[in-house]
Amino acid sequence: MEIITIIIYIAAALEIMMGTVVLFSDPKNKVNRLFAIVSLVTAYWILTNSLISLEPNEFWVKNAYATGIILTPTILIWLNYFLNKKNTKSIVIKIITITAIILYFCSLFSDLIIKHVTVSFTGGFDGVFGPLFPLYAFHFAAVSVYILFLATRAFKNSHGVEKVQYKYIALGLYGFGLVVGTVNFILPIFGITFLIPLDSTSSIIFISAISFAILRHNLFNVKVIATELITFTLWIFILIRVLIAETLQETIIEASLLVITVIIGIFLIRSVIKEVKQREKIQKLAIDLQGANDRLKELDREKSEFVSFATHQLRAPLTAMKGYSSLILEGEMGTIPAEARTAVSRIFESTMTLASIVDDYLNVSRIELGSIRYTFETINLKDLVENVIAELKPNIDKAQNVNFKLDISDPQADYRITADKDKLKQVIANLVDNSIKYTPKGNVHVSLIYDKVRHKLVFKVQDTGIGISPEILPKLFQKWSRADNANKTNIKGTGLGLYVAKEIINAHHASIRAESPGEGKGSTFIVEVEPLAP
Ligand code: ADP
Repeated sequence: MEIITIIIYIAAALEIMMGTVVLFSDPKNKVNRLFAIVSLVTAYWILTNSLISLEPNEFWVKNAYATGIILTPTILIWLNYFLNKKNTKSIVIKIITITAIILYFCSLFSDLIIKHVTVSFTGGFDGVFGPLFPLYAFHFAAVSVYILFLATRAFKNSHGVEKVQYKYIALGLYGFGLVVGTVNFILPIFGITFLIPLDSTSSIIFISAISFAILRHNLFNVKVIATELITFTLWIFILIRVLIAETLQETIIEASLLVITVIIGIFLIRSVIKEVKQREKIQKLAIDLQGANDRLKELDREKSEFVSFATHQLRAPLTAMKGYSSLILEGEMGTIPAEARTAVSRIFESTMTLASIVDDYLNVSRIELGSIRYTFETINLKDLVENVIAELKPNIDKAQNVNFKLDISDPQADYRITADKDKLKQVIANLVDNSIKYTPKGNVHVSLIYDKVRHKLVFKVQDTGIGISPEILPKLFQKWSRADNANKTNIKGTGLGLYVAKEIINAHHASIRAESPGEGKGSTFIVEVEPLAP
């Protein structure tokens, strides 16, 4: 058998198979039922075309032409239903179908379209066409163009999942049209005619593309149907061999083979069904999980929004409390008794603490909502550090057991950097404040140096305080991270300051890290920023 003939038979068999798979994947769906008809007609068309060369006679040529003319309306009816999800009462489709049916009978039973045919053994044939042939050719070409037009328009006007599906359909139809055009019209110009039988065969392109488009969301089911089809085909094939066996010995061998194949086949189908069911279960779970996850994210966002709103509302009264208590302490409201002074200064301190907690929460909710806005500008890091230390002076002075030292090693160095001044100030203040808070007695050494070799400005806060245990150290920059020894020393912390600091430092493309030899052995916090000057 010639290779082209083999290709033709394989294509026809595959088309029937795909049509069956699509049909059985959802037999109630009219799109699938119509598609099964399309693939059957196409497969029959392929066969009639190949039979022209095998049995060159007028009957098969007429059959091939007749099938060809009903193929395009069949595709059109399917496509129309597929695109509109229902039967439309399109008058155009009705006219096309009725004329196609008339032309079908004319092709088959009269000489109006094919009058007389002489077939050459090369696969080509000389035909004497009847008077209605131009109408036949026009019908075929016009309906083909109309189908391509509908598919292209649907693709252009669609979105999302539908667009992907329509893309496959349009590509399949264009691929089919391209091969038909090339082998029938372009190649013959160069004397190449032996590929003409491939024209109908190329319908496999569009049958495959459409099968894929329909089955995309039902692939698990398809696996079972395909396994069943292959196994049943194998059984029928061996059964035929049993029936046509000529000797007893042959019958026994074939029958044994059949028994073995049936047993293995049943196991195979069962295991595929089992696997498919499990996969479907997993897929369902994954979808449920995705849903739950989306809901959690939504709740988390709502929570952050609420915290942001609530803390924002707390700020205004806190500012008033801070302002008025400070005015009273400064004597702006007249002299107050010593006892009242102690009480008001407690109010003032507590308000400050509360304000800083509210700020921490507000910062965290902003980070989570992604609503932190940075305004970068050129600033001098040395000036910034000195400013922060000046502002923290009252706190530093209050810690009488702490020996504080600020060291800016090279005052002439270029300390310019690109940064959001207020945010970086917050980080520096937090580190210095922590070192004082967590050093009940000892030294705090703040330094800023320019590391020439690594071209980095290094800001360091070193203390001899309570230190950090190796277990806590890696989690220090996470939300709510507070060590036990910190709770004992300073019960007011939130464990949010370093988390916020890390976010801010990351936004600056800089780095922050903590070092400590262990509990009770002090700690060092290091921030490294790239200077502006090259
Ligand atoms: P807070 O100080 O409000 O608890 P931070 O995020 O600023 O929150 O710090 C988180 C934790 O890191 C602290 O609770 C403490 O356990 C530890 N920590 C921070 N700075 C120091 C320090 N200088 N010495 C020892 N532990 C520290």
